[in-house]
Amino acid sequence: MPNYDAHLLSGILTYPLAVALAGILKEYSGIPFEFSSIALILGYALYVLGSDLPDMDHPDALLHRGTKPIVAVAVGSAVYLQALHWFSFSEEWLNQTAAWGVGVVGALSGWFGFTWLMPRHRGVVHSLLFAAVYGLLAYLLGTFGLRMTGGESLYLSIAAFLGYTLHLLLDGSLKLL
Ligand SMILES: [Zn+2]
Repeated sequence: MPNYDAHLLSGILTYPLAVALAGILKEYSGIPFEFSSIALILGYALYVLGSDLPDMDHPDALLHRGTKPIVAVAVGSAVYLQALHWFSFSEEWLNQTAAWGVGVVGALSGWFGFTWLMPRHRGVVHSLLFAAVYGLLAYLLGTFGLRMTGGESLYLSIAAFLGYTLHLLLDGSLKLL
């Protein structure tokens, strides 16, 4: 089972193959990928990230441990915003303190919930279905987040999908679901 470095290095090194594959697909199937520099560079980032992303489902993986605090802070902040309406002390700082007191309970549940809810290692996260989901998210990021053209977003999508698939190939667990 390749480790973190091996997965990422394989992504860093094989990107020209992904570019070639997208070029061949465009030529023979007519999918209108647009190879602008910005699409190719963002595609590289998504490809390399994708080459280790599936190991998010392993509690010891660097990616899992790195994502956990982000999830905890996001959940905690969302709970804080809700809790802000619950208190009406005369001092504003008391309201803030109380709301954050509730917020950190949310953050804690995000922290433990992330590990708890994550499917077991090499389960559904290690599947072509999730590779497709990652590709779709990349497309949405390009179209709606970065206002790129349809062809550029399609390229981001295939780059993300191929990076993720590369991980599954190296793990030897290329499965649909
Ligand atoms: Zn893996």
